[in-house]
Amino acid sequence: MQSDSTGIWYFECQAAELESYLLSLQRRSVIYPDECEFLIQHLNELQTTSDQNTHGVAPLCHRCVTLIQKDDLVEIIVNREHEKIDHVTQLPLRVSLLRQIEIWYQKRPNAITGICLAELDGFSNINDTVGHATGDLILFEIARRLEKYKNHEFKLVRLHGDEFALAVTNMGSHEEIWDVSKWIGDQFDAPFNTQKGAVFLTPSIGMSLNINTNGEPVSLLECAYIALNHAKGDPLAREKLFNPQQEKNLTRQVLLESQLNQALDDETDLEIWYQPKQTLDNMQISGMEALIRWRHPVDGLISPGEFIPLAERTGLICEVTDFVVKQVAKDLPVLRKQGFNGKVSINISANDFLRPNLVQAMLDLIAESDITTADIELEITEGAFISDFNHCILLLNSLKEAGFALSIDDFGTGYSSLSYLTKLPVDTVKIDMSFVRELAASTQARKIYKGMIDICKALDFNVLAEGVDHDDQRTVLKSIGCDSIQGYLLSKPLGLEKLLDYLSSQD
Ligand code: C2E
Ligand code: CA
Ligand code: CA
Repeated sequence: MQSDSTGIWYFECQAAELESYLLSLQRRSVIYPDECEFLIQHLNELQTTSDQNTHGVAPLCHRCVTLIQKDDLVEIIVNREHEKIDHVTQLPLRVSLLRQIEIWYQKRPNAITGICLAELDGFSNINDTVGHATGDLILFEIARRLEKYKNHEFKLVRLHGDEFALAVTNMGSHEEIWDVSKWIGDQFDAPFNTQKGAVFLTPSIGMSLNINTNGEPVSLLECAYIALNHAKGDPLAREKLFNPQQEKNLTRQVLLESQLNQALDDETDLEIWYQPKQTLDNMQISGMEALIRWRHPVDGLISPGEFIPLAERTGLICEVTDFVVKQVAKDLPVLRKQGFNGKVSINISANDFLRPNLVQAMLDLIAESDITTADIELEITEGAFISDFNHCILLLNSLKEAGFALSIDDFGTGYSSLSYLTKLPVDTVKIDMSFVRELAASTQARKIYKGMIDICKALDFNVLAEGVDHDDQRTVLKSIGCDSIQGYLLSKPLGLEKLLDYLSSQD
């Protein structure tokens, strides 16, 4: 036995009986536990008869890479860098994938190489339902199905969790990566039979090709991850091929996330603007909605339409909410001095509803200030209710008991059902601005709007129309019984200084 400087170990043995095993091992990328035992036993025997019996054979449990037959000698080369395999699936890991791609790149720089990165949809639910042990067996079975691939030279690895990567090289054209992806999808057609019943699974697949990457194996993998993220976000196309534009978007998102985190920590560059609401019976300014603005040091003002969804995806939204509450607590006493006596409303996101201590957190935030819960209305979109409706009702009741007013935001856009409306302890329904657009021109639109108002009134809710930007819309809304309005007709959202000017001009 000898070793070279790169850590490759050579075993020379006369075990002709091992040959067929070893040849079959060479054709696939997995060694099963019983095969390992067989190999270890025989190689141990061979080693004890060897003069230089100084190295263990443990690496062989993991990987036999190359086999060369010389006369009746079998030489097995075990690369120690490939030692690690995943015990659940018996597949090699990320490092082996990158190593293999590197070898391909060196051997055939012009070959078309690609990766299909498959992640199972909803696998954590499966684990929760059938248990982790059965989940592991399913992963093992997936590995067995995927290692049957044979259209091109390939490397199959488990990355982590429910992610598998199948890298292929020597494809005839770039389009063939789609065939590989389709083949992977086909391996999930048959259910996985477990003791707890048949389990059906589907993968989302991200693909990348070496033409789009910078020549580093890791870049091929990263691009497949970017494509996978896009595939997961698209319910209609669960397989996506990487394109460079996706990378640009992702880079911006990653950068914005860390900058937003910083801005929230430092409480810099974030501002609260306010948009007035008007009651239609007396035309008075009756409330304000607090809307956040991010004055980015390089990109200027970034719309909440861009960074709020990002904050929701990354969990930063709860810190955003806290920031808004604190800032409103500072600004409201200033507005009171100007004669404003309505409530300020604050947008609460679906993620806030998952906070175990939302009510207490809100109370703590205003505890040190000069305002009370009666000064605040919380706006909640319908989307916040879909996950656990009963939990949401309890939470809304607690918020109400604590003294906050509550409103449903963007009503009519999502999950509206009359039966759920009746159960909500809210004060106001804000009808989404999409319904106001056609109001002045279309009798049909007017009938729909009036129907919505009538239902809300029958259930004792106040009704506010969002997005009112023309006087004729306000006239119609008043005539069909709407209580109040908000929109550019009154004012766009204003920073505190401009808002104070606006309020004094209303006097
Ligand atoms: P939203 O809660 O529905 O807020 C109303 C949005 O419509 C605001 O956009 C407002 O400027 C805009 N708007 C008001 N009147 C009109 C009008 O007459 N015409 C048109 N075209 N637009 C009008 P903004 O400030 O860009 O906010 C967009 C969304 O971002 C908000 O929708 C809300 O979902 C979210 N958002 C803003 N600030 C916060 C915040 O502090 N916390 C949370 N969780 N979300 C926020
Ligand atoms: Ca709102
Ligand atoms: Ca709204």
